[in-house]
Amino acid sequence: MANFFKDNADLRYYFERGISWAPIVEFVEREFKDPEGFSSVGEAVEFYTEVASNVGEFVAKEVAPRAAQVDREGLIYEDGEVIFPEALTTIFKKIKRMGLSAMAVPRELGGLNVPGIVYQICNGLFARGDVSVCAHNGFHGGMAMIALLYSIHEGTTEIDRETGCVVSTRFQEMIDDIVAGEAWGSMDLTESNAGSDLGVLRTKGVLGDDGVWRVSGEKIFITSGHAKWHFVLARTEPAPTEGGPGAGLDGLSLFLVKAYDEKGRGKKKTKTWYARVERIEEKLGHHGSATVAITFDETPGELIGERGDGFKLMLFLMNNARIGVGFESLGVMEAAWRLARDYAAERPSMGKTIDRHEMIADYLDEMQTDIQGLRAIVMRAAFHEEINQRARLARDHYAEPGSAQYKRFDAEHKKHRAYARKLTPLLKYFGAEKAVDMARQCVQIHGGVGYTREYGAEKLLRDAMVLPIYEGTSQIQALMAMKDALVGIIKEPQAFVSRMAGARWRSLSARDPLERRVAKLELLELSVQQHLMQKTAAGKLKSLSGKPIGEWPERFLQNWDPKRDFAFAMLHAERLCQIMCDVAICKTLWHQARRHSDRRAVLARYLERAEPRGRYLHDVITTTGERIIAELAGEDGAEAAG
Ligand SMILES: Cc1cc2nc3c(=O)[nH]c(=O)nc-3n(C[C@H](O)[C@H](O)[C@H](O)COP(=O)(O)OP(=O)(O)OC[C@H]3O[C@@H](n4cnc5c(N)ncnc54)[C@H](O)[C@@H]3O)c2cc1C
Repeated sequence: MANFFKDNADLRYYFERGISWAPIVEFVEREFKDPEGFSSVGEAVEFYTEVASNVGEFVAKEVAPRAAQVDREGLIYEDGEVIFPEALTTIFKKIKRMGLSAMAVPRELGGLNVPGIVYQICNGLFARGDVSVCAHNGFHGGMAMIALLYSIHEGTTEIDRETGCVVSTRFQEMIDDIVAGEAWGSMDLTESNAGSDLGVLRTKGVLGDDGVWRVSGEKIFITSGHAKWHFVLARTEPAPTEGGPGAGLDGLSLFLVKAYDEKGRGKKKTKTWYARVERIEEKLGHHGSATVAITFDETPGELIGERGDGFKLMLFLMNNARIGVGFESLGVMEAAWRLARDYAAERPSMGKTIDRHEMIADYLDEMQTDIQGLRAIVMRAAFHEEINQRARLARDHYAEPGSAQYKRFDAEHKKHRAYARKLTPLLKYFGAEKAVDMARQCVQIHGGVGYTREYGAEKLLRDAMVLPIYEGTSQIQALMAMKDALVGIIKEPQAFVSRMAGARWRSLSARDPLERRVAKLELLELSVQQHLMQKTAAGKLKSLSGKPIGEWPERFLQNWDPKRDFAFAMLHAERLCQIMCDVAICKTLWHQARRHSDRRAVLARYLERAEPRGRYLHDVITTTGERIIAELAGEDGAEAAG
């Protein structure tokens, strides 16, 4: 029987050896204090494996065979309602019956209590079957978990200190709805004038004399926006500086808004709407996921956290969602690679099947290599994010302030947060871009039939193309990665110098040739960062040009405005991000190779492709860019003058 979990050896590696389960299980099982829970790491992991295997079988049997029908049927909009045609209705009925709507929700709230990483892995399996089904499914359990976490952090969830179990929570109604498979949530940020630049959004939250917040405005492109429960980002404070890009992020707050109430059962069910779904967007692909425009008109909402916390809270939600896109990308890439591989093995051309032709063999090998590379950093980021969030919860809710345990949780939270933060834009960028590349290659390997609907290759390409756009575009991920890297150098130049020295030393004298190669690649990344820093410094203070970073005076290292000062680095941010992705992947695979010798071959194959790519990117970054920067500066100057 087909099973998308069992047929994937690289994925099973993580379950069997790659993931360090003990720290995760200890948090998830609350140090085994919950009498209803598992009593050992082994028992818990056995259950997680069973869940993943069941999902793998379900997707292979029930989702993938319906993907073409889902794509053809799309969704229907009628009188403010979104209607699911037959294939989607069948799939979501089955998901509800299997209790998969709330996998990561704690067991005392009716969920399966699996770790976030297992939930995300299952999403990746869904995405291999159909990425739009995966997206919609993610707006069930994922949203319930976010609501619970928001409530815990703002102090409106009661937790039993003995067992670590949730006793009551502010957003119980929403969580109950989702756990029952009756409703789902959405994340409403984008507006017609505000996508990447959320600081200019116009939706307003106003506090009435009756103490009730009311939200008004139109949101567009909202995935599963016909949901009952909406996290809405709205302006509650005037923008401190009107007009400028990014202005007013501090004035945003986050609300939980209920879009409708329902009464009755079955065919007698009636709905009262408090918001209006205006339309479903007509999209290139992703046809099983409703992307809607929705209007709120003085719709009551509940403020989450404090006034002005909206952007911070939204980022918390986004970080998870971006790791989620990494898993979605993996699903699309697996589907594309396997479809292409199987077709190539059957299709004869010039005396042999096309997979025996050198160029096609090379494509297929690169696809598999990139999937393994992406999976390495996606798993690592999901692991760090899990420990980051769980350690923070444990610090704030289980440990005695000031105790040794408190300090340990605090240190773990901060360490893992830093790792997750570094990896998240990289995996979002790399996964989304590679999914598109791979889907396109899948079409190409199919030749003429790739351009028809017969094999589903073109559907994969249409579906993949949204990945570099939603949850923050590829360009925004690249800018974030660049900014974090360069601001890190500005804040701690000596640490950067030591990192460079360490990489140089390892590149020359490490005993293992694979370690030397990884260090050499890292050195390329660091030397590119140094170059970008020097260019940036040259613009800011001419006298520093050419001086080693460690010798820059302290006063220079203060008062940076990334938007003003980083023009040259912004131009090359995507290229820098590409090198950073390769380095992060190679370092992760090296870490695996040190423990498991069979992973050496995976690293060697990845390095073979990453090394020449790194040299090429280094060359482009260090030899181009001046002309465009000069042209932009000239145009900006001319505009300012007149
Ligand atoms: C299918 C789908 C589902 C979606 N789901 C949701 C959802 O659930 N909730 C939600 O709130 N939104 C959702 N969105 C919206 C999505 O998040 C936005 O489309 C995205 O953030 C980009 O914003 P924009 O479309 O306004 O493009 P813009 O911000 O106008 O960007 C256009 C282009 O300019 C680039 N660009 C912008 N600024 C810079 C810069 N400073 N430097 C370099 N390049 C830049 C961008 O990368 C992009 O290539 C969805 C979109 C789609 C297509």
